[in-house]
Parts: sequence; structure tokens; C-alpha cells
Amino acid sequence: LATLFLDRIGSSDLNAFLHVDRELTLKQAAQADQRIAANDVTPLTGIPIAHKDIFVTRDWRTTAGSKMLENYVSPFDATVVEQFNAAGTVTLGKLNCDEFAMGSGNENSYFGAVKNPWDKTAVPGGSSGGSAAAIAARLAPAATATDTGGSIRQPASLCGVTGIKPTYGSVSRYGMIAFASSLDQGGPIAKTAEDCGLLLNAMTGFDQRDSTSLERPKEDFNRSLNDSLKGLRIGVPKEFFGAGLAADVEQAVRAALSEYEKLGATLVDISLPKTELSIPVYYVIAPAEASSNLSRFDGVRYGHRAADYKDLADMYQKSRAEGFGDEVKRRILVGAYVLSHGYYDAYYLQAQKIRRLIAQEFQSALLGPNRQCDVIMGPVSPTVAWDLGDKTDDPIANYLADIFTLSTSLAGLPGMSIPCGFGQGEKNGKRPVGLQIIGSYYDEARLLNVAHQYQ
Ligand code: GLN
Repeated sequence: LATLFLDRIGSSDLNAFLHVDRELTLKQAAQADQRIAANDVTPLTGIPIAHKDIFVTRDWRTTAGSKMLENYVSPFDATVVEQFNAAGTVTLGKLNCDEFAMGSGNENSYFGAVKNPWDKTAVPGGSSGGSAAAIAARLAPAATATDTGGSIRQPASLCGVTGIKPTYGSVSRYGMIAFASSLDQGGPIAKTAEDCGLLLNAMTGFDQRDSTSLERPKEDFNRSLNDSLKGLRIGVPKEFFGAGLAADVEQAVRAALSEYEKLGATLVDISLPKTELSIPVYYVIAPAEASSNLSRFDGVRYGHRAADYKDLADMYQKSRAEGFGDEVKRRILVGAYVLSHGYYDAYYLQAQKIRRLIAQEFQSALLGPNRQCDVIMGPVSPTVAWDLGDKTDDPIANYLADIFTLSTSLAGLPGMSIPCGFGQGEKNGKRPVGLQIIGSYYDEARLLNVAHQYQ
């Protein structure tokens, strides 16, 4: 299996993989063979997997898609990587992503854009573009990814594969290079909901090295895959179907909703009026946290250090000026601004208050005895994948593409994307559409059930 996928990776031109080391992979495959011979197995023993290059690994370089970390080798494995190694998976390599996971098209990677396997002139989505493209092109059967404001769901949608962002705190952030710590959440991208469930089983769990890790009993996320959907109430927020939603995406999503009605579910009209505020709120909070997290990249402790400098301050400045790309610098500037004296109350604090209101809106729809629905459905992305290069010089256009994924992240809720058809304006190939399924806290097993019944 490992050889099969390594060969495919070797002949792929998608730029999905950043680091591959055949020898290392085959060594791990041999170890998996030994475990299988000794009958010391988990459902994932011997299964090849690829990790987003934001999870640190001892054996492979970890760059986070940045020049800053071009030659960085971590002295330890991220908890997620440790968990998969313990389960016996075989690492195929590290996957391309937007620099420090900042982006929606994977065009912000220092190592170049990833191509969408369905149409190589289109973006794969971001920031986990390498993960989604690798699964779609069958370069790996399983991949890890991270989602801060949509980076699992949106690339999964644009590449026609399945991805789930679990409840915030489910997957350890230890060794996952930090972007916005109150939002960052790891999760899997794979072909099906069932595969995602197997991967979630391995990658969730309490970790005392992550201060926001949830302490919850272990569960089997695939336990209810085959439950009937009779009586399921699906909330359909009107704000997810307003202006800005492309007609072809709407059509595919509505067709999926009618399939759910055939499966016995009922559609309930709901309203999440704060949805549009999720963009300004997220693009204040995420850069604020990023500006703080990224202060560690100073040329002293990690990564790139400028060759010529006069003194310490000059070294900091030059190292950061050379090591970070444009989008990362933009976020650091915005973040430092909204956190600065005199602006903190007006921007950062205000954004935190609205964040709470956005969470409350979801909670009144999904939680408690008076809840309106069991899950919420809508599009993941307002459009299908756009052309490579189309939004490169327009950061705001990139931010607007996140309209349907950000609110779930701000609320800490689980959300997933499953393929539900294709867009209309076919150019050089098909462009997939994803259906978003959002659930209440800890309701991943239900999301997977709902997805599996459709798949
Ligand atoms: N597109 C969003 C951003 O650029 C989300 C990225 C993410 O989830 N990592 O911040």
C-alpha cells in the first residue's frame, strides 16, 4: 500500500506534498507489517496517512508553508502525529498548506500553490489545500488538516472530499503550529464520513499538554453510522442562501436537502442573522491571536535568521521581513493594531462580544429543550473553486469566501463538508460543491451518521 501511494505521489504534479521520504515511509510500513504479523493491530494499522505540514514531526521537516520554517525540524512529534503513530499508520509525508494556515486558496504557501485535481487551473481551497487535493487525487487515503475558520471544510468542499472539524478542544493542539489558538482545531480529511470517523477515533482525546483540551470519555464516532434519519430536523438558515451564493452551488445544496427529506428528515427554516458579522469578527480575532502567536518567530529561537544585521533589533526586523509572506505580515499588522492601546476596546473587545452573540444564536437553534433543529445544513463555500491567480491580489475577496464557515469556528461547534455535486460553469474540468453539516457540541457521531446516510 505504501509503495502504491508513494508511486502515485511521485508522478503527481499537484504540488500537494512538500516532503516525502520513501525510505522513512517504507521503514514505518515494515513496522506496521510486524505489528500485523503479531496481531497487535488497530483499525488503522498499516494505513497510509499524510499530515498537513502544520503538525510538527521529528522525522520530516515542518514548514507551515513558510520560508520562516523552511529548514525546521522539530525535536518532537505533535500529539496528533504521536496518536497516529501509536495506531500504526504509515506516514506518506507532509502536505502543502497556506502559510501558517492563513488563506482560502492555498496560494499563500511559500512553496507554491496546490492545484485542484478536478481542474488543475483551479485552486483546491485552503488552508488545507494539500490535504484535500491529496485525498481527491487518491495520493493518500487519509490526511490530517486544521480548521481555524474553515480550512478543513472549505478545501474538502472545493475538492469533492469529506472533512470534519470536531468541537473545539477535541483534538490536541500540542505540536500543531499555532495560528489563532482560540479557534485552531485539527481534524481529518478523507474520502467518506466513515473513514473520517475512524481517523477521529484515533486523533481525539484529552492531552494535558494542551490547556484547552477537552476531558471527555473516549467514544466511537462511527457508532451510529447506520441509524435512520427519520424525524431528523435539519435547520436551514436563510442567511446561508442569500445574495452572494452562486446559483449552481445553491442548486446542488438544495438537491441534497431534498435527498434528506426522502431519507425521512424534515427541513426547518431558521435564521442566524449575525452570520454576516462573522467576517469582521473573525478577521479581528484571528489576526489578534496570530500577531501574538507569531511573535515567537524572531530569528533567535526558530527558523529563518537574516544573514546581515547591525544589532539585535535589526536582526529581528530583517529576519521577520524576509521570513514571512505578505498575507502573514498583513495579519500581524492588523492583529497588532486591534490589540494596541486605544483600539483594543473598539475592535478586539467588541469582536469578542459579538463572537459570544454568534455562539448564542447557534445555541438557541441547536441546544436545549426548545431547540429548533438537530443539525444545520447549508453551503460550505459561496462558489465552486475559483481560478488559480484570480484572488491572489485581493485579500478581501479571499476573506469573503469564508462567510459560511467562520461562524461555526467562532462558536466552537463541529462542522463538516461532504460532496454533493458539481457546479455548472465547467471549464477545464468539473468543480465540486460541498454540503455543510453543523451540529451541536460533541455531536460528531450524529454528523457522521447524517453524512453516511447520504453517501
Ligand atoms: N480562510 C481563513 C483564513 O484565512 C481560515 C483559515 C483556516 O481555517 N486556517 O484565516
